[in-house]
Amino acid sequence: MRFAMEYKVRFVNPQKQYADHRDEFLKAFDETLSRGAIVNREELWKFEEDFAKFCGVKYAVGVNSGTSALDLAFQAAGVGPGDEVITVAHTFMASISTIALAGAKPVLIDVREDFNMDPGLIEKALTARTKAIEPVHLNGRLCDMEAIMDIAKRKGLIVIEDAAQAVGATLKGKKSGTFGLIGCFSFYWAKALGGWGNNGMAVTDDPEIAKKIKLMRYNGEDREIRKFYYHGHNLLMDNVHAALLSVKLKYLPQWLERRRQIANRYHKGLEDVPQVKIPRFDDPRFNDIYTNYVIRAERRDELKNYLTEQGIETMVSWATPMYKQPLFDKEKPRLVDVRGEVNELQETEKICREVISLPMYPELTDDQIDYTVKTIRDFYNK
Ligand SMILES: *Cc1c(COP(=O)(O)O)cnc(C)c1O
Repeated sequence: MRFAMEYKVRFVNPQKQYADHRDEFLKAFDETLSRGAIVNREELWKFEEDFAKFCGVKYAVGVNSGTSALDLAFQAAGVGPGDEVITVAHTFMASISTIALAGAKPVLIDVREDFNMDPGLIEKALTARTKAIEPVHLNGRLCDMEAIMDIAKRKGLIVIEDAAQAVGATLKGKKSGTFGLIGCFSFYWAKALGGWGNNGMAVTDDPEIAKKIKLMRYNGEDREIRKFYYHGHNLLMDNVHAALLSVKLKYLPQWLERRRQIANRYHKGLEDVPQVKIPRFDDPRFNDIYTNYVIRAERRDELKNYLTEQGIETMVSWATPMYKQPLFDKEKPRLVDVRGEVNELQETEKICREVISLPMYPELTDDQIDYTVKTIRDFYNK
């Protein structure tokens, strides 16, 4: 096991971003706390307004994590016992667990080459109980929301987007999280817009839904008139965090542009390596933000070890399909791939054996990218 300090290229580097903008962060922190603005104050309302503007929606409601945003989204949309929600297995568990926590049943369908939901499988997975679709925009790339919204409209289904990894990603210029009824974002520190703790956001154009989530995130109470409308948890976003994230939101467009530059440099360096499949999916409708740069590699585990030895930190997300986790030992969700109802999703299983995420953050230098590329090429040339 290596010590972190021995890495030449860290997988993420929050210290660098903090150092680059330290004065602004300290100023925002100081101004907020000096005013005694602790809970549900101007900083939060301003960040919500700016974030809604950034996405191009009417309402944004700050909560304490991406998981909470999904939790409240399913509850506010009226998803509950007896309902089924179609999503994917190739995602973080929160996408699936929040469906189960709402009392509904997750139905997991396979993904395509671009790691995202295969819209062609939605109709195969439909039953009379299907209430909603939850597309997950993985790694900073949107699902094919044109196809998904078309099916949802025809079948009368609610769409809740898990946009935790896709802040600012677009399809024909339209931002992630704005296609369905509710879009859910995460400001977990390693995401493209991350704080120093867990926060998140639910966005919508529906005033009733926005109001419901606003009440539900704060014990179900309208604090202005001191009336309670729901049994609720306390899931409010931190006010001081909103002030810090407002600083970051200003830089987000340039940071996303830098992520695209880094992805292009990786693409160019790796496109002719036959053992590697790069995440370049030629379709001019999409503008990806590369929250993660994920390649599919032959001898993945050996490659990962070799990169570690050479001082390059990487991650595998995920080596085990979610439906094989112990929480599903007693009852496995229904799985659907191109063959129909199955015990294992074909593409998802393959992805779990092949994926490896390379270092990706705006502060990564060209030298670090080139060193990572060279090391991968060396590995396959040995
Ligand atoms: C990070 C993430 C979440 C959960 O967000 P948290 O803020 O960590 O609760 C949900 N879905 C996906 C796809 C994620 O990557």
